[in-house]
Amino acid sequence: MSSRPSPVPAESAAGPATAASPAVGADAPGPTRVPALPAGRPADELLAELRALRGADAPTRGGRTFAYVYDPGLPEVDELATAAYGAFATVNGLDPTVFPSVARLENDVVGAVAAVLGAPGAQGTFTSGGTESILLAVKTARDHARSVRGVTRPELVLPSTAHAAFHKAAHYLGLETVTVPVDPLTFRAVASDVAAAITERTVLVVASAPSYAHGVLDPVAEIAGAAAGRGVLCHVDACIGGWFLPFLARTGRTVEPFGLSVPGVTSVSVDLHKYGYVDKGASVILYRDAELRRHQYFAYAGWPGYPVVNPTVQGTKSGGLLAQAWAVLNHLGEDGYTALAGRVALAADRLLPGLRATDGIRVLGEPAGSLVAFTVAGADGAPDLGLVLHVADEMRERGWYLQPQLSFDGLPPNLHLTLTPATVDRVDALLADLAASVAAARTNEPVTVDPGTAELAATLDPDTLTPEDVAGFLAFAGLGTGETGLPTRMAPVLALLDALPPRLKERLLAEFIGSLFRV
Ligand SMILES: *Cc1c(COP(=O)(O)O)cnc(C)c1O
Repeated sequence: MSSRPSPVPAESAAGPATAASPAVGADAPGPTRVPALPAGRPADELLAELRALRGADAPTRGGRTFAYVYDPGLPEVDELATAAYGAFATVNGLDPTVFPSVARLENDVVGAVAAVLGAPGAQGTFTSGGTESILLAVKTARDHARSVRGVTRPELVLPSTAHAAFHKAAHYLGLETVTVPVDPLTFRAVASDVAAAITERTVLVVASAPSYAHGVLDPVAEIAGAAAGRGVLCHVDACIGGWFLPFLARTGRTVEPFGLSVPGVTSVSVDLHKYGYVDKGASVILYRDAELRRHQYFAYAGWPGYPVVNPTVQGTKSGGLLAQAWAVLNHLGEDGYTALAGRVALAADRLLPGLRATDGIRVLGEPAGSLVAFTVAGADGAPDLGLVLHVADEMRERGWYLQPQLSFDGLPPNLHLTLTPATVDRVDALLADLAASVAAARTNEPVTVDPGTAELAATLDPDTLTPEDVAGFLAFAGLGTGETGLPTRMAPVLALLDALPPRLKERLLAEFIGSLFRV
């Protein structure tokens, strides 16, 4: 059974108005019963229900969830964040002439990022996250190349480890992607291969600092230099490393430069909702200069409403996250972020030797600092997908979330860990449970994909599948989610996914997630 409370049925909607005015949606037609909007419910009851819903979620504080969340281990930062958000929640960031505070705060926040990763003349924008920052960087490069170089069939050159958000941007914005394989041992982009992929149509070249999947730093200077040599822009995706590595450097460790000070780098994305310890919805996109940033803006005067100038994808937006980013950045300050980077480094220093000493575990590449990916080897010493997935499930049963990453283009399947300051006090417990999980995984049934299922999958054409076909296939494979939500062990699901061709995998994933959002 799911621990998720069921939606309140229309009949239970309390209050005298119910009988006279039926709740909205109560008579909704169709197979899915839409939960009705009640006549109204008391605030304390709703807040209690919201809190209860969190019970089934992975914990966002306490250092047991190794992806998605960033815990500074400082409760006063959470309090400040909530208060700062509240102070600006009703402000509309759409119009800084009506809400001048928005311009002041954004100049401060972008200015702080420019001071750390910029160069003289750099300009940028506060956005809703890494995906939006990347989308804007790609749009800017596309429009810049069209106006300056006359490129009409734009291409994006990127290492295979670049974040999926670049492929999303290319998909949304009509660019073709040229993906360059990385070095299979270091997992870093090979600068000469990236350089060789640049053509007259290339509008942007990408490097990661570091990559999300393996946490390794690409050779930024070489890639940016090659791009500049061809008159092409270069974006450094520092979404996850941009607000960690500079502070790691301040602790005295060596960090290769990767910001706008590196010749040839023309834009950088930095997520503040990762190692900036701001709540979700905070990132900065920074450009070399105003001339470049201009291509990001959308202005429109051809309608009878207010004149539109949108720097970002969003129109109306709350001032809450911007105010929160401003408050958290200024509260922690250089010294606070340096201390937190030191805690993350300490966590890595404790974790890595422990991982390397654990039988069967192999750390992938040379982590730049805060992200660690490791694979689990079978009896033959080769990475074993089934073991990797079993370990993820075993760890989940022990209260830890490690993020499974499937095999890709010759790169091994692995488990990803995002380290945070809250990890430090958990390392010993994590390593003990990990050793137990690896041992348990070895005694589990090997994860295999049923040959019949694989055969059926091979006959499926992702372009012509109906939703019923997909549901039928998932049920046949034993992966129907039914009413109660998610399978308890993900290994069989992920093993099947791993074996499928990418297009089919994408189609099934979309249907699967769609099935979770039932209305
Ligand atoms: C998180 C991340 C992104 C995408 O950002 P979102 O904030 O999830 O939209 C892009 N690149 C890297 C390297 C990241 O870690």
